[in-house]
Amino acid sequence: MRRALIAGNWKMYKTLADVDAFAGAFLKAADGISGRTIVICPPFIYLERLAQAFKGTAIKVGAQNLYWEDQGAFTGEVSGPMLKSLGITFVIVGHSERRQYFGETDTTVNKRVLASLKIGLIPIMCVGETLEQREAGHTFSVIDTQARLGLKGLSQEQAAGVIIAYEPVWAIGTGRTATPEIAQEVHAHIRAIVTDLFGESIANNTPILYGGSVKPDNIDELMAQPDVDGALVGGASLDASSFERIVKFKG
Ligand code: PEP
Repeated sequence: MRRALIAGNWKMYKTLADVDAFAGAFLKAADGISGRTIVICPPFIYLERLAQAFKGTAIKVGAQNLYWEDQGAFTGEVSGPMLKSLGITFVIVGHSERRQYFGETDTTVNKRVLASLKIGLIPIMCVGETLEQREAGHTFSVIDTQARLGLKGLSQEQAAGVIIAYEPVWAIGTGRTATPEIAQEVHAHIRAIVTDLFGESIANNTPILYGGSVKPDNIDELMAQPDVDGALVGGASLDASSFERIVKFKG
C-alpha cells in the first residue's frame, strides 16, 4: 500500500514572523500524527528556519524549485546540492505557475527531475491541463506529453523515487476543485502512463497527489479515491489549523 503524503506549497507567502508562528502552532497540531508523510514547501529563504523548527519530528521540508546545474554563474538560482546541504528531502518541480510565468517547459522540467534524483532529492513533478485544454477534450493527451517528457531518460531505479502531482490549472487557487471522479480518472491515467514507461511494480508504488483548491471540506472525499495517494495544497496550507485538518484527513 502506498503511504499517504500531504505537501503544502506556500508559494510566495509569509514573512519570517509568520513562518515562526505557523511552525509553533503546527508542531502542536501535528503531534502524534502517524502513517502519513507531511511536507511543507516554503520559499527558499525559510527552508533552514523551518527545517530547524521541525527537526526531530516527522514533518519534512521541501523546496518549490531547483536549478539543474550543481553550481555556476546562474544569478538567483538555487541548486540541488545547496538544498541537500540544508537537509531538504523534497522539491516541487514544474508547478504550473512556473510553467505559466517563468517559461518552464517539459524539457526543463525533465532536467530538474533528473537533477533532483541525481543528488537524492525526491521530486514532486506537477502535471495538469488548462481549462481550455480540458474543454477541448485534450486532458489525457496533455497529461501524456507532460508526464512522458518529464520522466524521459529516467532509469527504473530513478523512476521509483518520483512523486507525481496532478494539478489541473483551472483548479489552482480558484476555489474550483476537481470532483473526486475527475481526479480519480486522471490519476488512473497517470498510473497507466507510468506502467507503460516503467512497469507495473513501479507504477503501483508511485505516489500520485492531487492539487487544486484542496480544502478541509473536500480532502476526505478526494483521499477516498483509490489512485489519490495524497495532496499538494496551496492556499489552505498557509493556515496551521486548516492544514491540520487536511493532514488529519479521514481514511
Ligand atoms: C498549488 O499551489 O499547488 C495549489 C494546488 O494551490 P491551491 O491549493 O491554492 O489551489
